[in-house]
Formats: sequence, structure tokens, C-alpha cells
Amino acid sequence: MALTHRTGSIALAASMIAFIPELKRIPQPIIDLMWLPQDASVPMAVCFTVSSCYGSLLPDADIPHSTAGKKLRILLWPLYLFKKLLLFLGHFIRPLKRIGVALGHRGLFHSPLFHTLIFIILSAMSRGHSECLRCILSGMYFGVLSHLLLDLFSGGIPLFAPFSMKRQRPAITFKTGSLLEVLFNLAFILIALYMLYLIALRWFRTGRI
Ligand SMILES: [Zn+2]
Repeated sequence: MALTHRTGSIALAASMIAFIPELKRIPQPIIDLMWLPQDASVPMAVCFTVSSCYGSLLPDADIPHSTAGKKLRILLWPLYLFKKLLLFLGHFIRPLKRIGVALGHRGLFHSPLFHTLIFIILSAMSRGHSECLRCILSGMYFGVLSHLLLDLFSGGIPLFAPFSMKRQRPAITFKTGSLLEVLFNLAFILIALYMLYLIALRWFRTGRI
């Protein structure tokens, strides 16, 4: 599903670049918290979109054979090992099994609260630093959110983790690799192209994206 996550994140980033400058007023606490594509230069808008694309692969780093898992294996192998150890010890000490499961696929890495907390901490630390760093962080965060939203509709995610690891899913879902996923992919590509058209129109009209 990596391709759908990529196209979904690009469609979201392009929509944000197209519509956020049209918003009359964005609350100051939100502007303080995150970089948003308003009055963005072309390089920053590209940086935001690329970061979003990379961010959309991050949650699946909880499995070693995923695209992100393979790229980050060198960083994450202690975590994979720790999870295996907890699952083994969980046969004897039950609470350890629960922690092991939380570190497994679609566990904590698929928790919106967990990612939001990490983002708030990193965002606060990056305040006053370069605009580029804030842009990357923000792009990655929205990429992660687009991943979680898609996963919610394809098997569910632990929406309330770490308080509950129970996977929540809406009434309408789709299977990975199904025709519906292909249609989602096509829809995301069309949305991204249409947003690019709107952005180009504004650029020709005002000289800004
Ligand atoms: Zn996922």
C-alpha cells in the first residue's frame, strides 16, 4: 500500500498548498505550532510535499519488511529486537505481552495521539530555527496523518492508543490490493493534478503560489 500512501500524501500536501493561502485567518496558536504553506516560496512548497511523501511511509516502520522499515532498519533494529523479547517474555509475564503488541504493526506507530505528541515536542524544539526544518517537520506530520487516515479505512488503527490498543474502523473499509485501492490511487493522482492546476493559476495571476 506504499504507493497509495505516497499518492494520498501528495494529494493532501497539494490541497493544503492550494487552499491554505485562501483562508482568511488562521489562529495564531496554530501558526506558532506548525509551518503552514501560506505565502510559501516554490522550494518550500516542494519541500513540504516531499516531506509529506516521506512522512506517509513512516508509520509502517513498525514492520521490518516495509519500505520505511527497510530504510530505517539500522536505526530501528534495537526496537524490533526489544519487541520480540517482550513478546517472548509475555508468555510468562502478561503485561509485557501487551507492551510487545503495542510496539508491533499498527500499534503505537499507528497512533494519532503518539505522533501528535512527538510532533508538538519536535515543533517546540525547532521554534526559532530555520524555516526549512519547520517545513520538513510539518510536511512529515501531515504525511503521517494521511497514512493513518488511509489505514483507518483499510483494516483500522488504534485511534485511542496508548489508552486503548483496540483497532477502530469505520463501517466502510477497503482491502489492501483491492480494486477500491486502485480507484483511491487514481482519485489521489487526479486531485493532486487539479491542485497543481489551481496553484499554477494563482502563480500566473499573482506571482505567488
Ligand atoms: Zn500503516
